Amino acid sequence: VAIVGAGAVGLLLACLLARRGLDVVVLERRRSPGGRTRAIGIHPPGLAALYAAGVGAELRDAATPILRGIALCRGDELGRLTFDSPVLSVPQQRTEELLERRLAALAPGALRRGVAVTDVRQRRSLVELAVDGVDEPLRARVCVGADGIRSTVRRRLGVAWRPRRGSAHYAMVDAASEDGGPPDAALLHLEPDGVVESFPLPEGRRRWVVRLPHRAAPAPEEFADLIARRVGAAIPPTSVPSAFTARQHVAATFARGRVVLAGDAAHEVSPIGGQGMNLGWLDALHLDRAIASGLRAGSPAPRLRRWARRRRAAARRATRRALFNMTMGAPATGPLLGARNALVRVLTRGPAATLLARMFTMRGL
Ligand SMILES: Cc1cc2nc3c(=O)[nH]c(=O)nc-3n(C[C@H](O)[C@H](O)[C@H](O)COP(=O)(O)OP(=O)(O)OC[C@H]3O[C@@H](n4cnc5c(N)ncnc54)[C@H](O)[C@@H]3O)c2cc1C
Repeated sequence: VAIVGAGAVGLLLACLLARRGLDVVVLERRRSPGGRTRAIGIHPPGLAALYAAGVGAELRDAATPILRGIALCRGDELGRLTFDSPVLSVPQQRTEELLERRLAALAPGALRRGVAVTDVRQRRSLVELAVDGVDEPLRARVCVGADGIRSTVRRRLGVAWRPRRGSAHYAMVDAASEDGGPPDAALLHLEPDGVVESFPLPEGRRRWVVRLPHRAAPAPEEFADLIARRVGAAIPPTSVPSAFTARQHVAATFARGRVVLAGDAAHEVSPIGGQGMNLGWLDALHLDRAIASGLRAGSPAPRLRRWARRRRAAARRATRRALFNMTMGAPATGPLLGARNALVRVLTRGPAATLLARMFTMRGL
């Protein structure tokens, strides 16, 4: 099995396949791991996938648990959710480091860095992958494109990248701060000018995310000032914020013959309450079984097609949930703000709260 991309999803899938004794190779164009942190939240179904790959216990040790979420507006608590199993918080580079080390132990040499895949072609019972700077193609029985949002595999297959609703601009910072809320709680400040989120990180740090009217990374002082003005919290103006635009897309299909798309190559889910990495791990968990049984049967395509249909439906559900979360954090004033706050109060009480907590912890995906 050839996996294109050694991000969180490609690495996890490689560990699962290697554990079965399948011959797996991961082709990664970067020569060394990327330094940028993106995902921090690991949800119970994502943690189960990490346990299946053999890194669950290490990950748990490295993470800080988030036990509840609290929604506020202008300093007043609107409601809170308690999670039956904690969401774990750990920077994505650390998670990928653990997965990479695990893969090296399970299948030494399986990860090949500095290898950029430029084309993918299906032959009768094989897939041929063209690699930059190498004449001879690499041959595999199944190819998985886990090569991220700008997936080469998806483009070479000619699979459409369909936009879904939900787009907005944000800036974020991971900073040492004592002023962001209890160490086991995520805070969502649903303010008239737009949401400010604060999540615990290991070592007493917190991630701050702020909704902006346009895409422009504020300077550290501007970012600290924005937080002080919107929610009255103080963060040191030392770290440089990064700006990002949340967008959503789902590939028109996740499987063509023996080639499949998984993770961000298949779906881009807004990080605002969306959980792209965890969703990708669930793709991998199910794909591991579909590949193994398909190869045993001698013809993987029918099982891959079935996997693709189910995972595409899950991805569409995830984008709907993320759209809901983004809408709740949009700027609002007057009667709209009142109505939104009333809705949050209703949704964080009684049976609705249980349903919402399940949604935030990624059940049903
Ligand atoms: C600000 C932010 C916060 C986020 N927070 C969360 C969160 O809390 N929880 C969560 O679940 N998700 C979160 N996400 C989403 C998460 O980061 C992504 O869903 C996740 O990284 C997807 O992993 P992946 O392995 O599919 O793709 P990627 O991480 O993009 O990895 C793809 C890999 O493929 C390689 N590659 C690309 N093209 C080629 C090629 N042609 N040949 C060889 N290699 C190639 C790339 O170099 C890269 O290493 C967040 C995202 C952002 C932007």
